[in-house]
Amino acid sequence: MEKANIKTLIVTGIPGVGKTTVINELSSILKVKGIQSFIANFGDYMLKTALTEGLVSSRDQIRKLPHRVQIRLQSLAARSIAEEARRKLIEGGIVLVDTHAIVKTSSGLWPGLPSHVVTELNPDVIVVVEASPEEIYRRQSEDRTRDRKDIQEKGIEEIKELLASARYAALSSAVLVGASVLHVLNERGKVKEAAESILRVIDTI
Ligand code: AMP
Ligand code: MG
Repeated sequence: MEKANIKTLIVTGIPGVGKTTVINELSSILKVKGIQSFIANFGDYMLKTALTEGLVSSRDQIRKLPHRVQIRLQSLAARSIAEEARRKLIEGGIVLVDTHAIVKTSSGLWPGLPSHVVTELNPDVIVVVEASPEEIYRRQSEDRTRDRKDIQEKGIEEIKELLASARYAALSSAVLVGASVLHVLNERGKVKEAAESILRVIDTI
């Protein structure tokens, strides 16, 4: 994405940290300030193609597809998001991409932001949203709309490992494009604080 008057933030975090909630809160704050934002949920873009091609019937099946299929869907999603952001933010604004730095697939841990993706999106900042492992475990278990059993097979220990891997992965992706990495704690009942800490960083870009 061109840097001119668009600021791009890739918001990552393991399932259940509350990325989507933090992004929505941030977008409302930006709106009040008269700043235009474009939210792109990466999984939505992958799902749209996967559904059209009859590859899956729900979003939690995407990470179980053959690895090469996922890479193709991932690449298409990145390109569509970059194009749509340019179209939607002609006057400039903030792009917020809701996605993952690491995805637990059937073939192992896989980067959500490999070079072809991160180069296309060209972020200024990669945000890593985090929460306590216990809180994440609880949110994953209580979310009946999703099938995330595979990512908490080993309980809290697995969540701790994923949190660590997510940090390393975000940093590795940031290195590819010179983005900064921001860790944001999304504590229970403190989503506004989390969004505001991202907002402060947007002002420094
Ligand atoms: P989410 O609703 O954010 O959990 O996204 C749904 C699914 O989309 C994830 O479980 C992944 O299979 C896929 N997905 C999202 N972002 C990426 C990415 N950057 N790279 C690869 N797969 C992704
Ligand atoms: Mg989400």
